[in-house]
Amino acid sequence: MSHTFQIAVFHGDGIGPEIMGPTLDIVKELAGSSDAYGFRFIDAPAGAQHYAKTGIALPDDSLKIAGEADAILLSAMGLPDVRYADGTEISPQIDLRKAFNLFAGVRPVRVAPRLPTPLALPEGRDIDLLLIRESTEGLFHTQGSGEVTEDWAQETLRITRETSEHLFRFAFDLAADRKAAGDGPGRVTCVDKANVFRAFAFFRAIFDAEAARHPDLAADHAYVDAMALWMVQKPWEFDVLVTENMFGDILSDLGAGLMGGLGLAPSADIGLNQAVFQPCHGSAPDIAGQGVANPFAMILSAAMMLDWLGGKHGIDAMRVDGRRLRAAVYDVVARGGSGLTRDLGGQAGTRAAAEAVLAELVDG
Ligand code: NAD
Repeated sequence: MSHTFQIAVFHGDGIGPEIMGPTLDIVKELAGSSDAYGFRFIDAPAGAQHYAKTGIALPDDSLKIAGEADAILLSAMGLPDVRYADGTEISPQIDLRKAFNLFAGVRPVRVAPRLPTPLALPEGRDIDLLLIRESTEGLFHTQGSGEVTEDWAQETLRITRETSEHLFRFAFDLAADRKAAGDGPGRVTCVDKANVFRAFAFFRAIFDAEAARHPDLAADHAYVDAMALWMVQKPWEFDVLVTENMFGDILSDLGAGLMGGLGLAPSADIGLNQAVFQPCHGSAPDIAGQGVANPFAMILSAAMMLDWLGGKHGIDAMRVDGRRLRAAVYDVVARGGSGLTRDLGGQAGTRAAAEAVLAELVDG
C-alpha cells in the first residue's frame, strides 16, 4: 500500500526557487513511478524577501506547516542586505533547527572515483565520510543574545548532557547503519577540544559512555585542529565524525571544499521527530535570476530525505530511490560535459543540469 508523505517546502531567497523547482520535478517523477510512496508538497513562505515585504521572517503559519509535515525541504534563505536592527541576517533555517530541536546536522563528504576534488587522491582511494554537526547549542547557544559593550563582546558555549546523549546515539546508530549497508567500516570519531576546555572534556565523557554501548563499532577522538589537517591529508581514513556546532560549521565547509565546492554539498538537520533537508550553500545573490545555479546539492539533499523517510517508515523502495538519485547525480558529474553548470566547469543552466539527472534516472 502506498504511503503519502506531506512535505513542507521552503523555496527561500536568491537562487532558492530556481533550484527547488527542478528538484521537486525529479522527486515527483520518482514517486510517480513507485507504488510504495507518494508526496504532497505544501509551500511555506519565509525568508529575507518575505521579511522585507511583511516584517516577518518565519510566519507562524509556515512554522505550523513545517511542524505538521513528515519532512521539510528547504533551498536557501537570507540576503546580505536584508538585516534585523541589530545587524544580523534573517536566517529562518537556523530558527527551524531551534524550533524542532534538530540537533544532528548531517553533512556527507563524498568524492567518488572520477568526481572533482582539489586533492590528489592516491590510487584506489575515495572519500566517503559523514560529518555530524550538533546544531542547536555549542557556541551558537547565545546566538542573537550575545553581550556587546563598548569595550568587549561575549558569547557563551553551552553543551548539555541531554542533547549530547541524543547526538552520540544518533552518530553510533548511523555508523551501524552504514556498516550494515557496506558503506563504512563502523567507526565514530569525536572531534573536540578536550585538551583545553572543560566543556569539551564533558562532551567527550558522554561520547565515551555511548561508545561503551557499541562494542561492535570502533570509537576514537581527535582534536578539532588536528582534524582540519587530517581532513586534507587523509580524509579517506574517516567514517563518521561527530562534533560541536561551531566546529562542525567550519569543518563542513572544509568538507565541501574537498568535494570541489558547495555545489555538491547536501545536508540534513535531524531531530527526534522532524528533519530539514537543504543544500549547504546559501542563496547566491550574485548569480540569482540568471538560471545558472547548480541544482545538485539541492537534489542530493532530496535524496537524503528519501533515505531518512524510507528508514524511518520502513519503506525500502524509498531508500533504493535515494541511492539511485544520488548515483544519477554523481554519474552526470563524472561524465562531465553538457550536464554541468558553470561552477563545475560546464555551461549548462539549472534546468538542463537537472534534466541530465532525470535522463540518467530514466535511461541510466
Ligand atoms: P553562498 O553559498 O550563497 O555563495 C557563495 C559563493 O558560492 C557565491 O559565489 C555563489 O555564487 C556560489 N554558489 C553558492 N551556491 C551555488 C550554486 N548552487 N550554484 C553555483 N554557485 C553557487 O554564500 P554567501 O554569498 O556567503 O551568502 C549569501 C546569502 O545566503 C547570505 O545572505 C547568507 O546569510 C545566506 N546563507 C544561507 C544559508 C542557508 O540557507 N542554509 C547558508 C549560507 C548562507
